[in-house]
Amino acid sequence: MRLAVINKKKCNPKRCSLECYKYCPRNRMGEKCIIENPKDGRPLIAEELCVGCGICVHKCPFEAIHIINLADELGKDLIHKFGENGFCLYRLPAPVKGQVVGLLGPNGIGKTTIINILSGHLNPNFGDLATPGSLEKTLEHFRRTELYNYFENFKKKNFKTSLKPQYVDSLPKLYKGKVKNLLNKVLEANDGEESLKKPKEVLSRLGLEHVLERDISRLSGGELQRLAIAATLLRDADVYFFDEPSSYLDIYQRMNMAKLIRELAAEKPTVVIEHDLAILDFLTDMVYILYGKSGAYGVVAQPRGTRHAINIYLSGYLEKENIRFRNYEIKFETHPPRKEWESGSLLSFPSLYKEFPNFKLETNEGHIHRGEVIGVVGPNATGKTTFVKMLAGVLKPTRGELWLDSESIKISYKPQYINPEEEIKVRELFLSEVEKGYRDTFFVNQVKTPLGLEELENSLLTELSGGELQRVAVALCLAREADIYLLDEPSAYLDSNQRMEMAKMLRRFIEKSKKSALVVDHDVYFIDIVSDSLLVFGGEPGRYGRARGPFSLREGMNAFLKDVGISFRRDPDTRRPRINKVGSKLDREQRLKGEYYYQ
Ligand code: ADP
Ligand code: SF4
Ligand code: SF4
Repeated sequence: MRLAVINKKKCNPKRCSLECYKYCPRNRMGEKCIIENPKDGRPLIAEELCVGCGICVHKCPFEAIHIINLADELGKDLIHKFGENGFCLYRLPAPVKGQVVGLLGPNGIGKTTIINILSGHLNPNFGDLATPGSLEKTLEHFRRTELYNYFENFKKKNFKTSLKPQYVDSLPKLYKGKVKNLLNKVLEANDGEESLKKPKEVLSRLGLEHVLERDISRLSGGELQRLAIAATLLRDADVYFFDEPSSYLDIYQRMNMAKLIRELAAEKPTVVIEHDLAILDFLTDMVYILYGKSGAYGVVAQPRGTRHAINIYLSGYLEKENIRFRNYEIKFETHPPRKEWESGSLLSFPSLYKEFPNFKLETNEGHIHRGEVIGVVGPNATGKTTFVKMLAGVLKPTRGELWLDSESIKISYKPQYINPEEEIKVRELFLSEVEKGYRDTFFVNQVKTPLGLEELENSLLTELSGGELQRVAVALCLAREADIYLLDEPSAYLDSNQRMEMAKMLRRFIEKSKKSALVVDHDVYFIDIVSDSLLVFGGEPGRYGRARGPFSLREGMNAFLKDVGISFRRDPDTRRPRINKVGSKLDREQRLKGEYYYQ
């Protein structure tokens, strides 16, 4: 079975020489394998005529075509096709009562599409593009399967689903007014039915009480995320869906969110998409891995117990399906602190103090070495970004003066939020801002290729997805000539695989270039792979912050996790850190020993 998929965002017939039409051997023989689609002027590939030679794939200057050979037996499992030569989704997972079902896979593999289908927002077409999908068609397709019973629920008059969408940033555009009013609307729509969780409890556990009177347009990313989670939880529904609930949240908030969702799932089937593997591990009972080719097709593998599924995901090989989806294994290594830093310290900073009208921050003195990556962890709103900005010279400390070991030390900074406003292509952005760095061989080999930037070069910044924009922003920061790179939340919006790749790339880049980096992040796996040492922030979010360290990774994690109140063990097979069940034997033993983070 052959699939031909055209990425409509990338295909640009006005700017190419129509190579795909010209070079297709079937077209050259006079057949109509690639013709112009009268609907949009783009090519239309007839899958039944295509011989799979791949010439069009290589000739297209914008890498807009995918030609894929698939096992014939998958054909009967086609669930949805987004138009001619569009993305295809094969197989569907089934929500289960009493369990949190997780979906794990790269961006663009079909996870959101699955949630849209299961929540009743999209009727699948099963590949039939002539007639639109309908509930009847879906029931017919799933007759005598587990999913039949699930979809049959939609016939019931008051069957309801509740969905937290992926992008919470658009919330202020959809709802105007105060947070309190939005939550009241959700409760009113429950028509007298009580929500499973008490509103007061949800608001307090998600730390939303203090924003109830605030206008939605004035909320931060993390507040919007928690509001969206609260609204989803408080809706009275029969099935719940959470698409990436941890973006913008710190680890305390991720744990609170995870505990609330687990409690909800004890009563109602719940499906979650989550890229933070430590949280996915803690949150879900079983996981469906998705494989395929991002933007072209996605296949749902069979369900597995969470621990096994994550280990398999890291190994890159689905043994039962005999599918290799990555050509190497992701390993967690215990990197002992490098005591003897070859080139000594690059920057020393004194203890700093910063005061805003409602916020104070104090930090210890410390050093940054050449070749060192310092992970920065702690709750949101305790001054991590403020600290980073003081180092970057963007903010002036109220007390304490930065003394730089070398007068010529330069700092390059990637902020937490990236707002693309300019209608400019990725390549033009790099050429206008960092032309020299962009062409540098070291940069190309160490950053551009590992981050897969080539495939984004012709896209407009405003067209990029969150994860794509993140890769561009990190690369742009690293392309600048600097000694210290400050990266604020580089893992946000990346899928699990990209997070691991990004962490390894950053470590290698810093080690080899003998530069230094400070990396603020909330993903424990990411921090574990990327950091040599750790700076730990604590305090009272929004009022007072205190930074301790830099410590060795182990010492720092112990200090940090003690604050958070969780402990991690290591998985015996993969060495990956796993959150212990609070109060379990291991958790109690580790706490007693002060070993919150086993190496
Ligand atoms: P994920 O949630 O795993 O990131 P999605 O389900 O959002 O993946 O998308 C899978 C692919 O489906 C996307 O790469 C895109 O090519 C395609 N797609 C999603 N929505 C549409 C749509 N409305 N029209 C056409 N293609 C779509
Ligand atoms: Fe041009 Fe590539 Fe589109 Fe063909 S697929 S029209 S070569 S951009
Ligand atoms: Fe033509 Fe198919 Fe070859 Fe592309 S892969 S050039 S469509 S025969």
